[in-house]
Amino acid sequence: HLVSRDYQEEDTVIDINGVKIGKEKVIIAGPCAIESEEQLERIACFLKEQGVKILRGGAYKPRTSPYSFQGLKEEGLILLQRIGKKYNMITITEAVSLHTLDKVAQYSDIIQIGARNMANYELLKAVGKYQKPVLLKRGMASTIEEFLTAAEYIVSEGNKKVILCERGIRTFETYTRNTLDLSAVASIKKLSHLPIIVDPSHGTGKWFLVTPMAKGALACGADGIMVEVHHDPLKALSDGEQSLNFTNFKNLKEEIAIFM
Ligand code: PEP
Ligand code: MN
Repeated sequence: HLVSRDYQEEDTVIDINGVKIGKEKVIIAGPCAIESEEQLERIACFLKEQGVKILRGGAYKPRTSPYSFQGLKEEGLILLQRIGKKYNMITITEAVSLHTLDKVAQYSDIIQIGARNMANYELLKAVGKYQKPVLLKRGMASTIEEFLTAAEYIVSEGNKKVILCERGIRTFETYTRNTLDLSAVASIKKLSHLPIIVDPSHGTGKWFLVTPMAKGALACGADGIMVEVHHDPLKALSDGEQSLNFTNFKNLKEEIAIFM
């Protein structure tokens, strides 16, 4: 397999505007969903001050319930691009379908493929035709092998710029939203040359577990973390309970400094 360590021994490094993913540890941060211009502006301004180089924000939201906020769609993409440019930040947002992939690729620096689409092979093949970096999240019921095989779908189409993301899997445990599988990080480091980051926000579902799990992730070799940040998590339109407020984000940064 093209993604395997046997095929390529040295780590893949993905250079995005000078940020070398796979070489330097990165923090990707931002709201779960882009809610408004003021909201994204406020969060991006804070994160820029904190030295964050990659801004996340969902425009198309794959919500568990059809009655939950579905995202600002193209309007969200426009806001993400505009604010990313204003603060000179790299942007990432999710493509939830084949028919929105082109738009996402047009507006965003990194294309995210979410957990629910990890096994959407048509979407994986399509994203493999682009030359933009792709962040591929682990499906919530996928084995490590299935996760790596999903990455193979993208790489085998010609797009080698794949960043893997462990975001927790479904287990019998219900206290946490998912069970964050940190052993997957060390396993994937052995099995593959692709960079792997960890999303402790979706991986736990609880804001106070984000910092300890981020430390754990970096300690066991993750190339970075992706965390949800909101200026007022109680009022967030999605995933407020797992979002860090500004004070908690500053605390995260202090706590992970020794691993960066
Ligand atoms: C996200 O990161 O916005 C997201 C929806 O996460 P996941 O696909 O891991 O559930
Ligand atoms: Mn979310």
